[in-house]
Amino acid sequence: MRTYPPEPFRIKVVEPVKMTSQAEREEEIVRAGYNTFLIQSEQVYIDLLTDSGTTAMSDAQWGAMMMGDEAYAGSKNFYQLERAVQEVYGFKYVVPTHQGRGAENILSRIMIRPGDYVPGNMYFTTTRYHQEANGGKFVDVVIDEAHDSEYIHPFKGNIDLKKLEKLVDEVGAAKIPYICLATTVNLAGGQPVSMQNMREVKEFAVKHGLKIFQDATRCMENAYFIKKREAGYANKTIKEIVREMMSYADGCTMSGKKDCLVNIGGFLALNDHDLYVKACELVVVFEGMPSYGGMAGRDMAAMAQGIYEAIDYPYLEHRVEQVRYLGDRLAAAGVPIVLPVGGHAVYLDAKRFLPHLAQDTFPAQTLAAHLYVESGVRSMERGIISAGRDEEGKHRYPKLELVRLTIPRRVYTYAHMDVVADAVIALYAKRDTIRGLRFTYEAPSLRFFTARFELI
Ligand SMILES: *Cc1c(COP(=O)(O)O)cnc(C)c1O
Repeated sequence: MRTYPPEPFRIKVVEPVKMTSQAEREEEIVRAGYNTFLIQSEQVYIDLLTDSGTTAMSDAQWGAMMMGDEAYAGSKNFYQLERAVQEVYGFKYVVPTHQGRGAENILSRIMIRPGDYVPGNMYFTTTRYHQEANGGKFVDVVIDEAHDSEYIHPFKGNIDLKKLEKLVDEVGAAKIPYICLATTVNLAGGQPVSMQNMREVKEFAVKHGLKIFQDATRCMENAYFIKKREAGYANKTIKEIVREMMSYADGCTMSGKKDCLVNIGGFLALNDHDLYVKACELVVVFEGMPSYGGMAGRDMAAMAQGIYEAIDYPYLEHRVEQVRYLGDRLAAAGVPIVLPVGGHAVYLDAKRFLPHLAQDTFPAQTLAAHLYVESGVRSMERGIISAGRDEEGKHRYPKLELVRLTIPRRVYTYAHMDVVADAVIALYAKRDTIRGLRFTYEAPSLRFFTARFELI
């Protein structure tokens, strides 16, 4: 028997959730156009839409919220946040932003020129949007194994150095503003990158005069996998591992809504002073003063505290192993999921779950909708709808057609995970009855947020 760590916290405040009937949920999914993003949260029993901003904050974080210094400029909470980022991540300069995409916007505007290429270990929706909006072209350089949902690899988020080398040979280093290194890789299933790979990418970057920016959104979870899986790291602290990871980068963008254990916030961190000056010029245009960047003082205080809690080993172990618990239950029942299970979510493989549906009838979207109707569990499509259309207006057909069951941090118990597992297993037993979808509304960019569908 495998064991799982018990909750390293006790519950001080509770939020009752509503139990809905199947008839109510059938009505709601039609109202929401079969898009789980458009379901009202009050109609959801267990919300696994995202781990973004859905964290339960600690008593210490709520205490810090009361110490908000809401000065327009120079808030003491900014200096707390700056100190936390400098100490835990190791970068010199910190520019707060309202969330991760605010940092992506600033970084992309500073670094990318029309005609540039931005290599990355698999795309992320908002990251790629900002790269392309600034005239760059995203180039996927993740190892091939990342696109195979059944391939077992301890560091499935690694960059393929041969692909990187090929890109440099083809377009030249001058056309590559930076390498975008995501830790962990969200769209590959929350898969980590090894320290060895980061070191090799850094050597490559130095050789070719390239910069590296991490999308460090879930770097703590990545550090946990390094500690567990990579030789030489078992006795290192999470903080030591994170510092080493970041030592191979020139800076990072961060969505505080994930690893930093807050409901809103983000930052751009940098080592280069000239880039920092440029970032400050842009942050005042898009976010706010460089000492708040779209965040209230109290939110910066909560994030500064959250950064220290995020590197606490008992918290991190429970967080990642709870995700594994859900994955283990589904795998044991024969449900097709992405393996190995990643750090923040279990991904159902909708192509294998619903082999009778063509990808342009949106298997993952329809599976997410049916799971909600079955059980009140809300999940998210990460497949053809999220991938969007190419320059010619055609669907991009990603190899991975997934439904993401994302576990919020410190919110649900193992009993909740059992409810989710039972619902997915019940749906798998009647998968043959599930039909595909077609669009009734589609936005021109980031369509997954607002698209509407009907059953075919
Ligand atoms: C959430 C996320 C972002 C964007 O951050 P927001 O805070 O949602 O703007 C960027 N990259 C990855 C990998 C993410 O998961």
